[in-house]
This record gives sequence, C-alpha cells and structure tokens, in this order.
Amino acid sequence: MKNRVSFVLLSILLWSLLILSPVGANDANDVSHAGDVNDHVDCDVLVVGGSGTGATAAIQSARLGVRTILLEISHKMGGTNVTAGVTSIHVFGAWNHQIIGGIPWEIMEDLVSLGGARLPDLSVSYGRSQGKAAVNVQPDLYSIVLEDKCLAAGVELRYFEAPSSVKALQDDSGYHWQVITSAMGKLRQIRCREMIDCTGNGTLCAMAGAQRMKDEKDQQPGTFSYHVSHRINPDKLSKDQRAVIQKRYEEALENGTLQWGDARQGIFVSLKSTANNYIFKADNSTAELRSKTNTRGRQSALRMLKFIRSLPGGEDARLMSACEEVGIRETWRVKGEYVITIDDCIGGTKWADSIAYCFYPVDPHVEGPTAPGHLKTGVIPTIPFRALVPKGIDHLQVAGRCISSDHLANSSFRVQATCMAGAQATGAAAALAVRHKTTPLKLDMEELKSTLRTYKAIIP
Ligand SMILES: Cc1cc2nc3c(=O)[nH]c(=O)nc-3n(C[C@H](O)[C@H](O)[C@H](O)COP(=O)(O)OP(=O)(O)OC[C@H]3O[C@@H](n4cnc5c(N)ncnc54)[C@H](O)[C@@H]3O)c2cc1C
Repeated sequence: MKNRVSFVLLSILLWSLLILSPVGANDANDVSHAGDVNDHVDCDVLVVGGSGTGATAAIQSARLGVRTILLEISHKMGGTNVTAGVTSIHVFGAWNHQIIGGIPWEIMEDLVSLGGARLPDLSVSYGRSQGKAAVNVQPDLYSIVLEDKCLAAGVELRYFEAPSSVKALQDDSGYHWQVITSAMGKLRQIRCREMIDCTGNGTLCAMAGAQRMKDEKDQQPGTFSYHVSHRINPDKLSKDQRAVIQKRYEEALENGTLQWGDARQGIFVSLKSTANNYIFKADNSTAELRSKTNTRGRQSALRMLKFIRSLPGGEDARLMSACEEVGIRETWRVKGEYVITIDDCIGGTKWADSIAYCFYPVDPHVEGPTAPGHLKTGVIPTIPFRALVPKGIDHLQVAGRCISSDHLANSSFRVQATCMAGAQATGAAAALAVRHKTTPLKLDMEELKSTLRTYKAIIP
C-alpha cells in the first residue's frame, strides 16, 4: 500500500515537471524567431487587396481554373466602400444603355436577391445625373457577398496578411514571383506565376519595381463620413438665427476651433450632413500616412461635434456613427504601358485593346466649390488593357483607382464599377497567361475579350 502511494505521488510529480517545463511550453506555443518563414505556399495567381476590385479579379481568375489566393490586410472584404461608407457604386449605365456587366453586375444581382440593393433601369438616359445609373449597396452585406462569391469560385482568402517583400524569380520552377508576406507575426513565402495589385495605392507594383506617379500639389482630399444628430434644422432657421451661426462659424475658423475642410460647403450644409468634409493630403499608402490620415479625420469630427454642441439648439448633439476609415480619393497611380490622358477621357478614345467602359465626370475635388467636368452627350471613355499593365514589368497587373492614368483622367476612372470592370479583365488575363505560359501583355486580345464576354462582360 505504501509503495502504491509513493508510485502515484512520483507519477504526479513527473507529469507536473513535464507540463511546466520550458521545453514543453515552447512546443505548445510554436515559438519562432524574427525572420523565420513559417509556411510555404505556391499558387498561380496572387491578388492583393480585397475590395470589389480585388474580389472581381480573384473570382474571374479562379473561375478560369487556376489556383488563386487573395490577400487582404484588414478583417473583411469591401475596401473603401465598406470602411469609408462609399456605398454608391458608380456607374453601370451611360446615356441609355448598360456599359458594365459581367462579374460586377452579377455581384449587384446577388445583392438585389438578398435585399441589399436595387438595380437602376439602364435603358433610360439619366444625362448628367449619372448617380441614377449607380447601385446603392448595403455595405455589410456587400462585404459578405464578395467573400461568399470568392469562396464559391475557389479563391483562397487570407485576411490580416500583406506582402512585405517581392522578388522576381529567374529559375526554372515556372514561378515568376516570390512574395514574403507578414500575417500577424508569421512570415509566409508565396510563389506565384501572376500577380494583380488591387491595393488602391499600387503598393504591390512598387514592391515589384514598377514606377508610380503622384500629384502632391493637386492630390484630391479625402472625406471622413460620420453622423451627428442634433435639433438644429438649417431650413427652419430665421434670418437672425442663421446670422448668429454663420458668425460663430467664421469666428471658429479664425480662432482655430474649426478648420477649413471640417465643413467644406459651409456650416449650413454640414448641419444637414457632417460627411461634407475634406481631409486634405489624405493618404493611406503607408502605415504612417494611413494612421495620420485617420487621426486627422477623427479630429475633424471631434471639432465639429464640439462646435455643434456649442450652438444654440445643438447642446445635446450626439455622435451617432462614424466610418472605420477616412475615404481616400487619390494617392499613387501606377505608370503603365499606356497612360490614359484627360483627352482620352473626354474624347471617349477607343483602342484595339479597350476592355471596359468607364462613365463618370472629371471630378478632381479641387479646393473650393467643385465643378464636375461632365462628359459630352454620347461620350463613354474606355480602358485600354495596356493601362492595367505596369510598364516594363511582366507577370504583373494593376486594377482599381490607381490604374495608369493622368491626374484628371483618374478623377473619372476611379469609381467603383469601373474599378471592378477593369479588374475582371486582369483576372481573366492572369489566368490565360498561366494557361498559355505567357505574359498578360503578349496575350491575343481577341481571346481575352471573348473569354470576358463568356462571363458576360461588356467590351467596347
Ligand atoms: C469620399 C469618397 C467618395 C466617393 N464616392 C464615390 C461614389 O459615390 N461612387 C463610386 O463608385 N466611387 C466613389 N468614390 C471612389 C471609390 O470609392 C474609390 O476610388 C474605389 O473604391 C477604390 O477602390 P480600390 O479597389 O482601388 O481601392 P480600395 O477600396 O482602397 O481597396 C483596396 C483594398 O486593398 C487592401 N489593401 C491595401 N493595401 C494592402 C496591402 N499592402 N496588402 C493587402 N491588402 C491591402 C485594403 O485594405 C482594401 O481592402 C469615392 C471615394 C471617396 C474617398
């Protein structure tokens, strides 16, 4: 009996030592060291960035049967639409017909079937009211539908993961790129044959050695969308009440309580919608700039909230909601094999390699009241495939707001339906390039166009 008790006590002691020993703890916690690559994955097409742009590119690529991975640095799909409240997807129709179909339109139809959007009648000419040819989406559902459609197509989704280095491979492995990604403290190596940059900033292109362009002076401001509820109804104010508020507003601008841009169209417009702000030099192309931009957006909201609470009738004003991020209109543009110019845009140039339409005014959000440059009746600009291919770099494409275009043309081409239409072309081109062991630029354009038509894309 005494021996049995001693044996049990000894066993307990040994197990405790094993469980508490540093070696056991290290194994259980999977300890790695700075610079260790913990995982190796190969794929055909790597898409970086998961807005509607990245989702469309990845869905198209995967549907053509090639292994496709999509990296998204944040926690969900949707990009600016979802994080900055830009829920109106412009523009699917021009004059009196549909100009963007394919996967982007299919996504809209899915949203409609789930009660998350309504489709416009595109057989009607809305003239300069192009917003009527846009689709307003419920952003949370949009994010979920994008994710669902990626999964259904077989896209491997990796959130919280971003490239930290990109290297061109010159071996005989058949892979053209080695990308080291960082995913919450883990480093992963991804070898791929084709890459599509859907980061909005051309970040992947820059890492791969492509040239980018930026207009520091004229860079469009961003906007931080938030909603303050209060009891002041600008339409019901007397002349005297308006004069008091206007004076207080001007004093606030003078003494720095408010800054120009906090209420970009004047205080009375902002009392109706606080989203009427400009965040100047808004930029999310590096972690530092993105941090500063978002901080400045929130500071602007705070100034407005305090100001409204200081007005007669605004004492109980409340912040009801605020978007996750400042919406960014413009940062870098990738320099491509062709740079779309403002003359191409307003002239509606059509090239042999035009793969999608775009329809939106030239809208550079200059300081002061904006004067949108409407397109002349009947004009519908197009995107040449070469504007999606970074100059001099093979096996790499770009889609989204940073496609190869000059500053003014870009202010028209940056809208979401256009971003998605171009993205569908990059997804198809990447998959075809893998299939034919060639580069996107060397593809037969007629094959690319007919492949896109199979997926109901509308080609100029
Ligand atoms: C205030 C405002 C109002 C606008 N109004 C309209 C409008 O009414 N209608 C319209 O159609 N357009 C509008 N636009 C323009 C439009 O919203 C954008 O141009 C468009 O959404 C850009 O899409 P994108 O895919 O290029 O970039 P984004 O939407 O920025 O998507 C990029 C994605 O890539 C991810 N990402 C970035 N870097 C990395 C990385 N290194 N690794 C992994 N993932 C990364 C991001 O997290 C994001 O999900 C507006 C823009 C703003 C700012």
